[in-house]
Amino acid sequence: MRWDDHGCAGCGKENINKNGFLCADCQTWEKLYGWHLHHRGLYRYNEAMKEYMQRYKFNGDYRLCVVFQRELSKVVNEQKADLIVPIPVTSTTM
Ligand SMILES: [Zn+2]
Repeated sequence: MRWDDHGCAGCGKENINKNGFLCADCQTWEKLYGWHLHHRGLYRYNEAMKEYMQRYKFNGDYRLCVVFQRELSKVVNEQKADLIVPIPVTSTTM
């Protein structure tokens, strides 16, 4: 399921206070460090995504890379970010 743009303005997670504003975690981060993160997930981590990740990352079913390839490529190329960080697996799970 695609993650819409509603939610915390910093991290994108569901914001029980008000969409478009910072969630409690991001507000705390801003108080502690004077800034907050600007990141977002593209998809919700629901049961279907959990199963996909299990098969792709942990069972090595790399044929599944094509499922999100086009959309991820488009989103990455649209970003005006200083840094895009893919989240790797640990050497144990690799
Ligand atoms: Zn947040």
